[in-house]
Amino acid sequence: MKILVINCGSSSLKYQLIDMENESVMAKGLCERIGIEGSVLTHKPTGKDKYVLEKAMADHKVAVQLVMDALVDPEHGVIKSTDEISAVGHRVLHGGQVYSDSIIVNDDVKKVIRDCFDLGPLHNPANLIGIEACEAAMPGVPNVAVFDTAFGQSMPEKAYMYAIPYEYYEKYGIRRYGFHGTSHRFVSGEAIKFAGLDPKTAKVIVCHLGNGASISASIGGKCVDTSMGLTPLEGLVMGTRSGDVDPAVLQYICNKEGKDVNEMLDILNKKSGLLGLSGVSSDCRDVQTAQREGNKRADMALKCFDYRIIKYIGAYAAAMNGVDAIAFTAGIGENDADIRKSICDGITYLGISIDEEANKVRGEKRMISTADSKVKVMVMPTDEELAIARETLALVK
Ligand code: AMP
Repeated sequence: MKILVINCGSSSLKYQLIDMENESVMAKGLCERIGIEGSVLTHKPTGKDKYVLEKAMADHKVAVQLVMDALVDPEHGVIKSTDEISAVGHRVLHGGQVYSDSIIVNDDVKKVIRDCFDLGPLHNPANLIGIEACEAAMPGVPNVAVFDTAFGQSMPEKAYMYAIPYEYYEKYGIRRYGFHGTSHRFVSGEAIKFAGLDPKTAKVIVCHLGNGASISASIGGKCVDTSMGLTPLEGLVMGTRSGDVDPAVLQYICNKEGKDVNEMLDILNKKSGLLGLSGVSSDCRDVQTAQREGNKRADMALKCFDYRIIKYIGAYAAAMNGVDAIAFTAGIGENDADIRKSICDGITYLGISIDEEANKVRGEKRMISTADSKVKVMVMPTDEELAIARETLALVK
């Protein structure tokens, strides 16, 4: 069975066609600048040359059609007809409080995605357009919505409530939802298997450290807390996002600089984090290069990044009254041995000891703790597309 995975952003569309017989990627690609001048499709069929098509894409519907054409193209394609695609799995940002699992799309599901436009204003509209474009391009083929917020739905009230007047929760659903859920679910599940832990009781902390970064705590595969909140702004220091900040900071800067709250949120989302602190870049590798060259702000930014993670791991070990395994994933978590080491050096009180040689690994599943470490620490590459494809397969087969 072949499953197409689609991830629509506001002006982009990423895709992968996966053969579920052996979970191999047949083709993957990206449409960029949808609805903007200079649209381009980059298609990478496995075992064939990359194919780049510069062609106007007025909207996501046109982009989906170009992806279909590329997949069946006699030269660059990997299938004879789109009839070979059994189902489409869509990454959907926000499912509100309605969905704690993936679901086959029908009119009710589309209504929920629409009802959550206010909660995910950049992503949910694009996600819905992507679904409707696939419905039009492949009538009768099931579409599955895989929600980024679903994993966080098992959090208990004490973890997801903000201590603000209850009426805002009742009226608007203001609470913590958590994001990167597909990755946290996938990585925590794989970590339990890899460490040979009891799947019913295992206490696992997943550090998803990429340009966006979040951390989750789960017991028996169910999320009990996670660092992102109503939006993906809360929690860790990220590439451009501040993570946790005293809300009074917004009022103070607004008053001093004559800004409004929307401008401030833009600053917290796009100009803060590693970029704002270092003044160098949002990309961790650039900040590290500057640190090595003696840039003090770059050094401070990276120390803030590590320190916030160390605090969250401590908080989550406390929240679960223990931790069996810690898994590092995403761009930084999978590749950056120095950051993993400085985080682990800050949590030795948990009985953690790291095998320095094993920790030098990049992008590869590997145990990095020593045999006598009380907590198993590992690198566990995330694969959100495969996770979406597996969840889609489970619903449609
Ligand atoms: P992601 O959002 O998961 O793609 O991760 C992006 C972040 O991972 C950026 O800050 C990159 O600098 C970082 N990253 C990616 N590859 C590496 C690498 N080989 N070594 C260190 N950091 C990396």
